[in-house]
Amino acid sequence: MSWYPHPTEIDYVQAEGLLRMTFSDDHVADYPARYLRGYCPCAHCQGHSGGPPKWQEVTKPNQIRIDNVTQVGNYAICIAWGDGHDSGIYSFQNLRTMCPCPTCMPDGLPEEKRRLT
Ligand SMILES: [Zn+2]
Ligand SMILES: [Zn+2]
Repeated sequence: MSWYPHPTEIDYVQAEGLLRMTFSDDHVADYPARYLRGYCPCAHCQGHSGGPPKWQEVTKPNQIRIDNVTQVGNYAICIAWGDGHDSGIYSFQNLRTMCPCPTCMPDGLPEEKRRLT
């Protein structure tokens, strides 16, 4: 198995509505909660069709409130959302691929994936 950066620190910055992850290669990723929720990887949100992850529109403020973040094994985190949805397992590798920082994503996130509510 090839080595992949893993988070050494995970912080929910509630005032800014984002999850900040520091990776083992010192890369810092700020994920807007809305962005993470919109790409919730669980089968309910993504269906079983395969293919690239689908964006799900977020409509309620409690859908982007992070209640809890728990580590799953040594490869992923599980995010519990304010509306009780907690089946999304976000692998570290996926999260790193999704990193919206200017280096990883020069064009940045579109407005609808970024805004707070
Ligand atoms: Zn989901
Ligand atoms: Zn990045």
